[in-house]
Amino acid sequence: MLGLGKEKIKKINDWQNCKFVHLLTCGNNSNHKSLKPVEINNTVILVCENCDYKQTNIPDIIFKNNFAKKSQIMEHLYRKDKNANT
Ligand SMILES: [Zn+2]
Repeated sequence: MLGLGKEKIKKINDWQNCKFVHLLTCGNNSNHKSLKPVEINNTVILVCENCDYKQTNIPDIIFKNNFAKKSQIMEHLYRKDKNANT
């Protein structure tokens, strides 16, 4: 099971770094920073760095797609589009 948590954390970070999806945010205050994945007792949970909010329920969709790759493609298209307009 070793490494599974790290893989999950990586995917969550990819999701949280993607500009094109709804980021996972604090349940206490949506103005807080986006939630950070941490591994506790072999379980990955999300925590808020600004308060003690914790979320154990992580949407499956985050683990199903390679968002880092998609995000790069979309950014590339976005930039191309922007250059075309200037
Ligand atoms: Zn918070």
